Amino acid sequence: MSELRFDPFGREWITISARRLGRPVTDAQAFCPFCPAPAGAGPAAIDGSEAPRGDYEVAVFENRFPSFGGPAAPEGGGPAVPGQRTAPGLGRAEIVLYSPRHDVHLATIPEPGVRLLVDVWAERTAALAADPAVDYVFVFENRGRDVGQTIDHPHGQIYGYPFVPPRVARELAHVREHRREEGECLQCAVLQGEERAGARIVDREAGWVALVPFAPHFPFEVHLLPRRHVGSLPDLAAQERAAFARLLRRTVARYDGLHGHPLPYMMCVFGAPHAIPEGDIWHLRVAFQPVERAAGRLKYLAGSESGAGAYLQDATPESMAAALRGVAM
Ligand SMILES: [Zn+2]
Ligand SMILES: [Zn+2]
Repeated sequence: MSELRFDPFGREWITISARRLGRPVTDAQAFCPFCPAPAGAGPAAIDGSEAPRGDYEVAVFENRFPSFGGPAAPEGGGPAVPGQRTAPGLGRAEIVLYSPRHDVHLATIPEPGVRLLVDVWAERTAALAADPAVDYVFVFENRGRDVGQTIDHPHGQIYGYPFVPPRVARELAHVREHRREEGECLQCAVLQGEERAGARIVDREAGWVALVPFAPHFPFEVHLLPRRHVGSLPDLAAQERAAFARLLRRTVARYDGLHGHPLPYMMCVFGAPHAIPEGDIWHLRVAFQPVERAAGRLKYLAGSESGAGAYLQDATPESMAAALRGVAM
């Protein structure tokens, strides 16, 4: 179904998943495949329906149009060329429905619902990490058509990659080096410094801090960080999960108050790669990466960002944090 191809120049895997072109694109007025179907409606009332039968609070199911997984052996790419190799696109792809309601999102789902969602994320992270085909579990959400969301129903995704993604692998090398040279967790040290400095702090919740990073990649980027040195979602204690849920809701509410409409963003949960030998060197980070630099004006990841990998901001991170702090809650 899918195939990994190794790019010897970037030394990274590219996933070729041609079947994904057939996945559904719906508009908000039309049939939503994620709204709950009536109990007893049968396996699929309408072709393409994916929703659980009956009602649900939070639901998880395998993506019918996955980037990873599936039984078929990879198709070869023709005669061998030096440096080129392939691997089967093993791994997992799941969809998480946040709510049975179509018209809500992380800020407007009641707190117990977001708290349950955090538990589901943690549980699925542990479950996919136990799959021998999975090297990295990535919980994420693309919110808004501007970041490629194709179905408006509030949902996120979980990928179980059959490799450690390049950005995570690079960061792992850096935190490992910092640990070796300074004897401390880089994120713990940064977090303590940011709390003293204060200018980039957006919000606080018991055991958690929300801040704009010193050098953000995206406009109004916010990192949610546990104060305790915790590696990934399953390691969070019950009270830390509850506080995380509250901070998640408030962060999205700030975003939605910023420009007066739901801000398109990518939410990325960067947990520890579970297969690393020194299990405790990673510090959990939940990164919100919006793509709007001003009201209605998209930040395009164009030549410099997508081409050269060099990110530019046209506002200071300190002014971004002040704007987010100033949103009336
Ligand atoms: Zn729906
Ligand atoms: Zn730490």
